[in-house]
Amino acid sequence: MTRVELITVGDELLSGLVLNSNVARVAESLASVGLGLSVVCDVSDDLDEIVAAVRASAARADVVLCSGGLGPTSDDLTRDALARAAGVGLDVDDGVVQTLRDRYAEWNIPMPDLALRQAEVPQGATLIPNPRGSAPGLQMRIDGALVLALPGVPGELQAMLDATVAPLLAGLAPGPAPVTATLRVALAGESGVAAALTGVQGAGEAAGVRFAYLADGGDVRVRLTGPAEAVAATEQAVADALGHGVYSRDGAPLEAVTQRLLLEAGATVAVAESLTGGMLGAALTELPGSSAVFLGGVLVYATAAKADLGVDAALLAERGPVDGDVAVQLAERVREKFGADYGLATTGVAGPDPVGDYPPGAVFLGLAGPNGAFSRRRDLPPRRDFVRRLTVLAALDLLRQ
Ligand code: ATP
Ligand code: MG
Repeated sequence: MTRVELITVGDELLSGLVLNSNVARVAESLASVGLGLSVVCDVSDDLDEIVAAVRASAARADVVLCSGGLGPTSDDLTRDALARAAGVGLDVDDGVVQTLRDRYAEWNIPMPDLALRQAEVPQGATLIPNPRGSAPGLQMRIDGALVLALPGVPGELQAMLDATVAPLLAGLAPGPAPVTATLRVALAGESGVAAALTGVQGAGEAAGVRFAYLADGGDVRVRLTGPAEAVAATEQAVADALGHGVYSRDGAPLEAVTQRLLLEAGATVAVAESLTGGMLGAALTELPGSSAVFLGGVLVYATAAKADLGVDAALLAERGPVDGDVAVQLAERVREKFGADYGLATTGVAGPDPVGDYPPGAVFLGLAGPNGAFSRRRDLPPRRDFVRRLTVLAALDLLRQ
């Protein structure tokens, strides 16, 4: 088994100033060629620390990837650390000097002397082209391990993973490259989804498919990785087991799926939002092309605003603003107001205080369409941010019905 370790360099990662997203980029790229990370190590911008981390990883691993610290400033120490760990000096590479001169000339600014640090290369190292930036990556052997140093800037790192690193490492993975499939389920808990898939997972794993469950804001992704045929069969089995709960089999988020469905149907939608305060409209306008399906919306946060839109005042007086029939009327009125094919409405208790008899998390969604209108109650986990985010997902999900 090829052992791969990653060293991410930068004070900003350790202080929490910047989220270490390069780990995910590297892991994804490795997974695409059938490899995985054994260890990830965050190191500060300190020469001794980086040298120690590189030596420790090189002693354990077949491949050591580094990200960050390749730029020109005094805190960019990866080049020096690699040279020190390998016990070699640094040479100036004339090709890189020329590239830097050309680049500065192109930008029409004088090149600072500092920039030339990026042309220093540990003896014995070769360069990895950087299509997006000025600092090239480095490839060398340290203690028998293949060491690849890449820039920290996420876009540059990604471009070099795609163009050079993944193809280079593909040769080290055993067997053909695995494929992945991602199914998404909205408004489900990770453990509930996993429980529903116990049997399917057992059979899939026996066929060499790895299961990963990724939960985020009420959305669960089931990721399958393995041999192509086994992944295809397992994907179908997962879809069968979860039924209509699966809203996407190509990784697309619910916003994109909803928009696609409306486009395919040639249908338009308008929204009346209470507890979501505009978040539903934001979700429906997030993607380019939304103007073909989204007509507009109204914020009916206060009870008086619901009456203004045309909800029956007697109904509001009798039942209060959190009610299934109120949701239906909101959906109907906003549908009429905008002349949309569908009217979609949210009303409910975001919390922390109850409204009437309803506790935080009690939500009613209304959908009015060409074939009539209906409401649906949801009882969501009673934390204000969850309630609002999940209400948006629940409303979008209603459009799939
Ligand atoms: P530069 O030439 O810009 O100095 P570099 O290779 O030296 O590139 P760094 O200085 O370490 O890279 O980081 C450059 C930028 O990329 C910074 O804004 C930093 O916050 C960001 N960055 C670095 N490492 C990571 C990481 N692991 N995850 C996300 N962002 C990162
Ligand atoms: Mg830097």
